[in-house]
Amino acid sequence: MEDILYKHGFGFKKKFGQNFLSDTNLLRAIVADANVTDTSTVLEIGTGAGALTRALAQKAKRVVSYEIDKDLKPVLEESLAGLENVEVVFRDFEKENLQKLEEELGEYSVVANLPYYITTPLIMRFAEEAKKCLSLTVMVQEEVALRLAANANTADYGAITAALAQRGETQVLRKVPRNMFTPRPNVDSAVVKVDFTKGGFEVKSAKAYKAAVRCAFLSRRKTLENNLVNAFRLTRETAKEVLRATGIEEGARGETLPPKTLGALSDILFDRGIVKE
Ligand code: SAM
Repeated sequence: MEDILYKHGFGFKKKFGQNFLSDTNLLRAIVADANVTDTSTVLEIGTGAGALTRALAQKAKRVVSYEIDKDLKPVLEESLAGLENVEVVFRDFEKENLQKLEEELGEYSVVANLPYYITTPLIMRFAEEAKKCLSLTVMVQEEVALRLAANANTADYGAITAALAQRGETQVLRKVPRNMFTPRPNVDSAVVKVDFTKGGFEVKSAKAYKAAVRCAFLSRRKTLENNLVNAFRLTRETAKEVLRATGIEEGARGETLPPKTLGALSDILFDRGIVKE
């Protein structure tokens, strides 16, 4: 892989988060983590030099891979030569219309070694907007992976953890040391899988859930009661009543509450008209 990059005079661009993989065993393991089979359509974000794309194409029915950097065109023409089931789209994925893309893809899984600078917004976009995405199997910085899959009442648990938990089951599948990437980044990474077909729970309003989660983590040192008063301009009496109706102890702090309890809180906020659609 490095030979091809060198041959085409490719220079790595930090601004695009270009840290490439080449270890065949690791690439195969990621494909297995994603449960890719010959009926799978895979969406990859960040083709790079095509190492993961190739490993995916060997198992999947179809791979659609986005790459922002057109300088990789000659590299990919060579590294992906002969693969009939791969389409590389040289566009900024952040500017794509997800709904339109989903109409074209049908059911699909995302598998990607994500550019670190857009990891969190990308994952949240799939969690909030995707309708046909079965799962995300993505390489992210280890610290982010731990945050995404954290349990309630731990230092890593945060608004993004709770937001994802409502939509599916999140697990850290493997840690990947920094020396597996070219060029070598300053942090270790991990493969995390968000499975939208498992876990998750219903809420009456996605908007109310988002508001409840934001409120729970508004100020970590304050009680949920205080955060409710501040976030929704409730009287103390109403805030206490909302907590009672949800079965949350007075004095509880938001970060101690599991996502499902935040779901129950959001339903009460919605029922009371505190958050409207
Ligand atoms: N998949 C390759 C691999 O594993 O070796 C490359 C991974 S590298 C971490 C991320 C890739 O995403 C880079 O090739 C970068 O140019 C590309 N990229 C960055 N921002 C992008 C965007 N907004 N849309 C599409 N591709 C992007």
